[in-house]
Amino acid sequence: MGKDSYHLNTKLVGLIGHPIKHTYSPFIHNVAFELKKLDYIYLPFDVPSSTLKTAVKGMIALGIKGFNVTIPHKENIVQQMHNVSEEASIIGSINTVVNDLGKLNGYNTDVNGVYETLLPYKEEIIGTDVCVVGAGGAARAVIYTLIRHFKPSTIFLVNRTEQRAESLKNYFIDKMRFDNFRTKELFPPDLVEVFQNSKLIINATSVGMFPDSDDIITNLGNSFNKEQIVFDLVYNPPQTQLLKLAASKGATVLDGIKMLVYQAAKSFELWTGEEMPAEQLHKSLQLFIKS
Ligand code: NAP
Repeated sequence: MGKDSYHLNTKLVGLIGHPIKHTYSPFIHNVAFELKKLDYIYLPFDVPSSTLKTAVKGMIALGIKGFNVTIPHKENIVQQMHNVSEEASIIGSINTVVNDLGKLNGYNTDVNGVYETLLPYKEEIIGTDVCVVGAGGAARAVIYTLIRHFKPSTIFLVNRTEQRAESLKNYFIDKMRFDNFRTKELFPPDLVEVFQNSKLIINATSVGMFPDSDDIITNLGNSFNKEQIVFDLVYNPPQTQLLKLAASKGATVLDGIKMLVYQAAKSFELWTGEEMPAEQLHKSLQLFIKS
């Protein structure tokens, strides 16, 4: 849709977070709106915590159709919702809001992104030991999806601050009645065996993300093998040092781009009621990033 075609009925959706440094979401959604010939536009809004409440009220007043939510608002915004989906309520964080005529409904579509990324490997993952590194909001969506859809035997929960991993373990024991967790501190020499024995390793930390792209959760190559799947949620850059190292040891590697597109696809569907051409968007985004 060309710029001159915005008119009275153009619906606005967007993203709120702080700071909004770098985001591919406007690209994904605006290209999808154009492909589907939908009269919508997606814009980023930099909203600090001090103005979150008024920004959300303003969005209702302006009739904004919905918005994505990112750091640092994913947890705090829950209290401003009229309804929260079952999965967002279990995870305790929201990344998508739908404004239904002034009533705000909160969802967590990261679950969809994690699910679609791991789906081709579902049979391989069921009943195995898996390792999740990280204990923030993204890790919560990962753990929920693993327990709900991939039935792992044991989840090794690794985090720089071990206490946070311990709290997350207790949270999920309480919320989902899954208690086969082991927690560990992110100290690479002590983790070689844990990583080696995990069928699936997921990096749900921000380690390796631009501009600190040389950082890696472990540089010990003997942590990886060719039987493994290694999934890095970091999408900028798509090929992180972790994925490069794991691939060099023969592991199957999955980057964060597919998750990004499929969480967007679910938000798109919630706002518009239409299906996003996600595969096409996945290819377009890969080309856009390379250009
Ligand atoms: P968050 O809530 O801020 O959590 C950050 C996590 O990273 C914590 O576990 C933190 O450990 C750990 N961490 C940060 N810096 C570290 C360092 N230098 N060394 C070791 N651990 C470190 O962030 P989030 O929302 O969970 O996001 C995590 C990552 O997932 C980000 O890179 C984000 O871009 C990515 N993500 C990707 C998608 C996608 O669609 N692909 C979707 C959501 C998120 P402590 O607890 O010790 O602080």
